[in-house]
Amino acid sequence: MTDRQLSLYNALGRNKQVFTPLNKDCVGVYVCGPTVYNYAHIGNARPAVVFDLLVRVLRVLYPRVLHVSNITDIDDKIIDAAAQTGEPIATITRKYTDIYNQDMAKLGVAAPDVQPLATEHVPEMIAMIGDLLKNGHAYEAEGHVLFSVPSFPAYGRLSGRNRDEQIAGARVDVAPYKKDPADFVLWKPSDKEGQPGWNSPWGYGRPGWHIECSAMSEKYLGKVFDIHGGGVDLTFPHHENEQAQSCCANQSEDFAKFWVHNGFVTVEGEKMSKSIGNVLLVHDLAKNAMGEVLRLNLLSAHYRQPLDWTAKGVNAAEAVLSKFYKQLEEIEDYAAIAVDLAGLRADAGVQGVMEALCDDLNTPRAIAELHSLFKDFAAAQGAQKHAMAKQIKALGAILGVLQHDPKEWAQKVGAAQAAQIAALDEDWINTMIARRVDARAAKDFALADSIRKELAAQGVELHDGPDGTHWSLLARNSA
Ligand SMILES: [Zn+2]
Repeated sequence: MTDRQLSLYNALGRNKQVFTPLNKDCVGVYVCGPTVYNYAHIGNARPAVVFDLLVRVLRVLYPRVLHVSNITDIDDKIIDAAAQTGEPIATITRKYTDIYNQDMAKLGVAAPDVQPLATEHVPEMIAMIGDLLKNGHAYEAEGHVLFSVPSFPAYGRLSGRNRDEQIAGARVDVAPYKKDPADFVLWKPSDKEGQPGWNSPWGYGRPGWHIECSAMSEKYLGKVFDIHGGGVDLTFPHHENEQAQSCCANQSEDFAKFWVHNGFVTVEGEKMSKSIGNVLLVHDLAKNAMGEVLRLNLLSAHYRQPLDWTAKGVNAAEAVLSKFYKQLEEIEDYAAIAVDLAGLRADAGVQGVMEALCDDLNTPRAIAELHSLFKDFAAAQGAQKHAMAKQIKALGAILGVLQHDPKEWAQKVGAAQAAQIAALDEDWINTMIARRVDARAAKDFALADSIRKELAAQGVELHDGPDGTHWSLLARNSA
């Protein structure tokens, strides 16, 4: 055990609180995972990286951490995707689960200890819905089972939304079978072609989205557990509903003790959207840059703050890591240095970075600590230098960086740069420039600016001159 305490901002209570596990021998963490029907974008990657970091910090502090993160493989968006592509649902979900896991592995995200699939936990969901009906917190209507929001006076406590905001925020139009507009679906009928289903006491149907996380977190972590994570956009209604379901099914006041949410990601100052064309997929980004570079860029802002993803930011992260690896080339056996996170508990050398991370995962400060350590490393000699390299590798293991062989780094970065140049679509760039010229001529400066940003997101810089607009690839190693 350690004396060091971890403080985390808890959405319950809306303040920073000292984290004390329910059972110090095993800390339970549940993180809402992806809905698998397409490629993950950089906004989807942020919670994966943030909670991977949190789990790493917990693994330094506590002997055992059980990290559970689900896969939503039953959802109306998946059913729609199957209808559009003609592929079976299971083919789509298996394919995108694999792609998601491969993409996150590139970002240095360790696989969760348990990655439960919703479709493999329908009996647990049916049992929980049965308990909600029995306890008077749910009702049947027209083949649906609905959660009765007025039956749970604490509803709104997590998100801080009042009743008007709860109704305004409801995901679907108010259906006629709802007794109260805030009520939400626990079970719905599968009565149309192409809709998958399961037999239940309420007929052939499928679960609503929220119930899966209540059922799966209970199965693997118990009725009350330590930390529940996810993106801030999930706070309402998803997390509010999870909490309502679990507290009411279990007749318990508590569900997750800590609710931790990461902030949004924008791209070049704009919200990611298909219509703007600035949705950046991890799959594509990882072709043109090392996953570790993308990870460092994701950690460059504090996790609760919004993160503005820019091609310049990626280049800066790459330049930092290249500088660090260059320095580490001096250490002949760096690649062979083994790091065991649990073994770092008593290591005084990691205290600066750990202190920053234990202060609500303050990654900007932790990265600054790393920079100052490298300054000292540059001046150190001999055995002292080697000892510092060990510390650096340990700190890197906590942050999820600096685990490559320094001698191979420059070559790998070079290959990624070459791939970016090879993949450049000059026709597309010229079309975009022509569209921007037209937009400016029509005085549609908002459109012109969004075209510039879309190009910038791909690392393409525009230069306007008297003889027209030219472009160049954003210079790398420009930090
Ligand atoms: Zn969830």
